[in-house]
Amino acid sequence: MIRISLSPLSDMYADTKNTEMKNHRYDLLIVGAGFAGLYMLYRARKLGLSARVLEAGLDVGGTWYWNRYPGARCDVPSMEYSYSFSEALQQEWRWTEVMAAQPEILDYARHVADRFDLRKDIQFSTRVKAAQFDEEASTWQVITEAEEAFLGRFCVMATGCLSVPNMPELAGQEDFQGAVYHTGAWPHEGVDFSGLNVGILGTGSSGIQSIPEIAKQANSLTVLQRTPNYTMPAHNGPLSEAFQAEAKKNYAEIREHQRASQIGIIGYGFGFGGAKAMTPSQQIVETTAEERERLVEQEGFSAIRRFADVATDSDANELACEMYRIQVARVVHDGETAEALMPRGYPMGCKRPVIDTDYYETFNRPNVRLVDLRKGGIRQMTASGVSTEQGDFAFDAFVFATGFDAMTGALERIDIRGRQGRSLVDHWHAGPRTYLGLAMRGFPNLFTITGPGSPSVLSNMLVSIEQHVDWIGDCIRWMDGAGHREIEATEAAEAQWVEHVNEVAEGTPYTAASCNSWYLGANIPGKPRIFMPYVGGVGRYRETCDHVVEQGYAGFHLRTGP
Ligand code: FAD
Ligand code: NAP
Repeated sequence: MIRISLSPLSDMYADTKNTEMKNHRYDLLIVGAGFAGLYMLYRARKLGLSARVLEAGLDVGGTWYWNRYPGARCDVPSMEYSYSFSEALQQEWRWTEVMAAQPEILDYARHVADRFDLRKDIQFSTRVKAAQFDEEASTWQVITEAEEAFLGRFCVMATGCLSVPNMPELAGQEDFQGAVYHTGAWPHEGVDFSGLNVGILGTGSSGIQSIPEIAKQANSLTVLQRTPNYTMPAHNGPLSEAFQAEAKKNYAEIREHQRASQIGIIGYGFGFGGAKAMTPSQQIVETTAEERERLVEQEGFSAIRRFADVATDSDANELACEMYRIQVARVVHDGETAEALMPRGYPMGCKRPVIDTDYYETFNRPNVRLVDLRKGGIRQMTASGVSTEQGDFAFDAFVFATGFDAMTGALERIDIRGRQGRSLVDHWHAGPRTYLGLAMRGFPNLFTITGPGSPSVLSNMLVSIEQHVDWIGDCIRWMDGAGHREIEATEAAEAQWVEHVNEVAEGTPYTAASCNSWYLGANIPGKPRIFMPYVGGVGRYRETCDHVVEQGYAGFHLRTGP
């Protein structure tokens, strides 16, 4: 193994000319072995390209390798949150639940790696710290934290949108004597909370999934909440053999519909949220207060799913929020706790939708209490727990369910340098700029899978991952056939795409001034407030990408040569 330290480009390239380095030269370097990296490797092999995957973790699975907290599970129907590239694979794999839990999804990722013999081209326990483009050789040099260097004609960042845990800096954290966990980097051996007094910070998807499970085990659970969230019951359950067999028969059609849909989910038969699939068809603004109250009484939170105008009209949205709060009050017994759990002042749908199992019911347990941080925030952590402006709380263990530096975090943590040594961090100083979420001006032959500016996190990510990987694979095949050595987004194409991404997001609940979501980078202090994903929809986006290809890779500059 050759080890080199980061050095100016000319020196680095001189190093790579020695004979040992030949072992480290590939057509394609792929960073990350989650679902994106695994499929990219598979596709590269099918195209006859040599490829190496570099992965920080000790195994495949990405999200599902790191996020092992109690209650972690998918919120997309299992039959749809799975690869479609292999008919044999989708026919043979058996899911046990409508929406699978983390261990099952991780097993699936491992099965894919073994079935297609992918591991031999994956280097685990290898964190990439830098990637630099050599303009003379049209080659990417990727450097790991262990100072190992790899060369690739192309580099694909499959580093994940939600792979960098956000750890808020609380004063006194180092003084805390108890155990500290982050949901996004959970211990592989699991955690036994039995008999412990546990605190948890964060009520996003990870908090809402883990709170009911931790509460069942711990002596006491104290939930520290800054912003109450909107969450709908998941209605998850076992997946019947009969249903699964039927779905497998119809897989070709299901996949086709997924690919053409808005979010890559069609809710085939069971719908988003289990058996109670419902297509919104009514207008909430046409209902009376009495009707809305009656609907909530009969159908609970699910009644809100009837209304199509909630997503498009702010008055309708506020009426839905009122219905939501009525139901919170019906479920949560203690009036003060119920009031604190009611989201107010920001629209439903501006953040990633959350679905849960017994979230509100958990606050009726005698061992669970809610601390509303809006009534007095955290001052600091102490040796025994957390000190807030409304009192001190003692814990044996503390869980950060505080999310991720999403979409840009993993990319910006790698020192990526394109033409003339310009860094990606500089290029993105005012927010991420990409063409199609796939490529950036100044960074030739570098691709991002589900990058900012693509539907990515607004979709069933398996659908988006497959589309990006296929597009990248086809592009490389075409380039090689046509004798092109470099592809790079033009300045104009990138600028127009950024403008389009912003334009379609305008006026949606996502960009409401009152919304502080990670989609906007609002969860990370100092991060530019820019709506990062593309809201135009999976189907429309795919058509755009296909059109770019039909037009001879419109918006890309191609360089030909040996
Ligand atoms: P990841 O799975 O994040 O994999 C990226 C990999 O890159 C990681 O293994 C990481 O270790 C590695 N990596 C990153 N940086 C480096 C580096 N510098 N060097 C080396 N390796 C690096 N999506 C849905 O569509 N539906 C869901 O229900 C859903 N549920 C989710 C639940 C949780 C708890 C979370 C966190 C996310 C969820 N997502 C869901 C989003 C999920 O991230 C995607 O569905 C999908 O798993 C992403 O795959 P990926 O390969 O793109 O990225
Ligand atoms: P998140 O949605 O960003 O939620 C983080 C929570 O931590 C929020 O409640 C936030 O409060 C709180 N928080 C962060 N910093 C804080 C601070 N300094 N002080 C007090 N509170 C703080 O993160 P997540 O729950 O991990 O989910 C991230 C995404 O991962 C999801 O949106 C989803 O895409 C994916 N995910 C999916 C599932 C699933 O169901 N399949 C499960 C987990 C995760 P504020 O709201 O006030 O900022």
